[in-house]
Amino acid sequence: MPPPAWTILGQGLAGTCLAWQLLERNVPFTIIDRGIGGSSRVAAGLVNPVTGRQFEPSWRIAEFLPESVAFYRDIEQILGTSLWHPLPVLRLAQTGDEWRKIRHKAEQPEVARWIDEALADPPGGWTGAIVLGGGGRLDTRAFLDRSRAHFESLGLYRQDEISPDDTNRELVRCDGAAGLLSGQLGAHRCAKGEILTLRATGWDESMIRVGAGGWLVPIGNGCFKAGSTYEWQTLDESPTAEGRAKVATIATRLGGADFEILAHEAGVRPIVRRSQPLIGPLPEGCWIFNGLGSKGSLYAPGVARRLADWLVDGIEADPSLDLRNFRMIAS
Ligand SMILES: Cc1cc2nc3c(=O)[nH]c(=O)nc-3n(C[C@H](O)[C@H](O)[C@H](O)COP(=O)(O)OP(=O)(O)OC[C@H]3O[C@@H](n4cnc5c(N)ncnc54)[C@H](O)[C@@H]3O)c2cc1C
Repeated sequence: MPPPAWTILGQGLAGTCLAWQLLERNVPFTIIDRGIGGSSRVAAGLVNPVTGRQFEPSWRIAEFLPESVAFYRDIEQILGTSLWHPLPVLRLAQTGDEWRKIRHKAEQPEVARWIDEALADPPGGWTGAIVLGGGGRLDTRAFLDRSRAHFESLGLYRQDEISPDDTNRELVRCDGAAGLLSGQLGAHRCAKGEILTLRATGWDESMIRVGAGGWLVPIGNGCFKAGSTYEWQTLDESPTAEGRAKVATIATRLGGADFEILAHEAGVRPIVRRSQPLIGPLPEGCWIFNGLGSKGSLYAPGVARRLADWLVDGIEADPSLDLRNFRMIAS
């Protein structure tokens, strides 16, 4: 019997990484996307090894970070373009309490391994700062657009819409928040986020800056991405005046007041259990790859590889990624 021809629904980070994995294995597939919206299209592509107010290393980062960087480097070779930009991450603390917490966490070996330097008295009215290594930025838009053009040139991409109820067995749903909002995995914690693209000539472009509840990511030529808001009630992709003001405040704190806003966008992060993705088959039919949360650039390549191993060679993913375990716990 010939191998199944897979349909991948969604050409965000999840679907695109899975498509590359199937292509590498010479497995037939078509990737379908409605061509508008989605979280990946607005994402800044930031990868930060130690994140959040709690200053915690990202889940399984030591495993997933090298795998994602190696993957993006391979795709750069195939597409002949630059996608992964390593950059130090400057984590800034506003208050004495925040700085004490960061310093305390910094003593733990799993955090210390990412720290290049601690600055006790940084300029700009910050209480303290830590420079983290290993992070960087994926040019997400270029990765998606150039990949789509490549798949299109091979006749493997179709712009189309699929019903949210479709559960055909050879379908892999990588439909992000749209899938989760349709009830695909039951309860979810999807969060809308708003982001600004800025021009600010003269700002420091050598580092990603994280602090004041947001981040500022240099994207070249005096431009930056600044973000982001978290909103759990109104889960649409429409930018708001309130979101714009919030992100502009973050940008002012992290970069300065002298910037021009080039774009203001919004998306919905597909969150199930923080930023820990899930993969596997649904009992009613299709397969799922979802839940990348706020960290799609970090997890999509490694999780896509594990899913391709499962789809093609029958090698099941480890239990922490397997959505069947999650559904048992959640039900
Ligand atoms: C403001 C903001 C900033 C972010 N910044 C970062 C960041 O700096 N770093 C980071 O790692 N992550 C970031 N994220 C998170 C990141 O965007 C997500 O983790 C990731 O993009 C999720 O990818 P996905 O492929 O699962 O979903 P999506 O990107 O949403 O892709 C799903 C795709 O499926 C398509 N689709 C859905 N339903 C259908 C249908 N019925 N028919 C046809 N097509 C369909 C959609 O159009 C979409 O293209 C950010 C998110 C937001 C909102």
